[in-house]
Amino acid sequence: QRKPIVAGNWKMNGSIELVSEISTAISKYKNEQVDVIIFPPAPLLCKAVESGVNVGTQTISEFDSGAFTGEIEAKLAKQLGANYTLVGHSERRAIFGETSEIVADKFAKAQEKGLIPVLCVGETEKQRELGATEKVVAEQINAVISKLGIAALSNSVLAYEPVWAIGTGKTATPEQAQSVHKFIRDMLSTQSEPVAQSLQILYGGSVNDKNSKSLFTQPDIDGGLIGGASLKADAFVSICNSAL
Ligand code: 13P
Repeated sequence: QRKPIVAGNWKMNGSIELVSEISTAISKYKNEQVDVIIFPPAPLLCKAVESGVNVGTQTISEFDSGAFTGEIEAKLAKQLGANYTLVGHSERRAIFGETSEIVADKFAKAQEKGLIPVLCVGETEKQRELGATEKVVAEQINAVISKLGIAALSNSVLAYEPVWAIGTGKTATPEQAQSVHKFIRDMLSTQSEPVAQSLQILYGGSVNDKNSKSLFTQPDIDGGLIGGASLKADAFVSICNSAL
């Protein structure tokens, strides 16, 4: 009953030409049983909206307009046609110092301005080796719940992206991913069964056109957040097809 989502996170990649190419390739999913979303770099936001694809930003500021050089304002992104925003991508956490508290503020600002936040969570390789995966993921999600309450998750999307699987070609096995997705859903269901059952939880981390089907057919995996493979029209279309 949860509609699958296939989302392409372009990171700091892409071009005006790629917007045309990808938007043409995915236009056929408009009325299909999968929501396809593109997260282009901010300078391409308007081009992507004009191309007719469903668009989100890769991050937004937790602040309203003001003296915040270089930041992306949620209200403006919404006005320009974005429907979603990623919050807490592991690259934002690791490279740009975003704590779970800041991520919760961004999540709140997104919803306040009418953007659907896609909350990204996931453990590092070290944390997995230490057996801390569930603890880390729970803390990252609880930072949002303790600020906004469980109901806030009903208008959001979650993405589980193990850091060790991002850009490494080391995909989590379908069983490893399913186990964490189920842990998340079980954890949420202790607070709200309707929220737990309706929340779309995407998997991200080296998803490609070969492994997407076996991941997406797991009972608690509702689609994917795709990095590298979302920059190639053929591969991305195959991944979208595997979610149908
Ligand atoms: P890759 O698909 O390139 O591993 O990236 C995943 C990711 O970080 C998507 O947000």
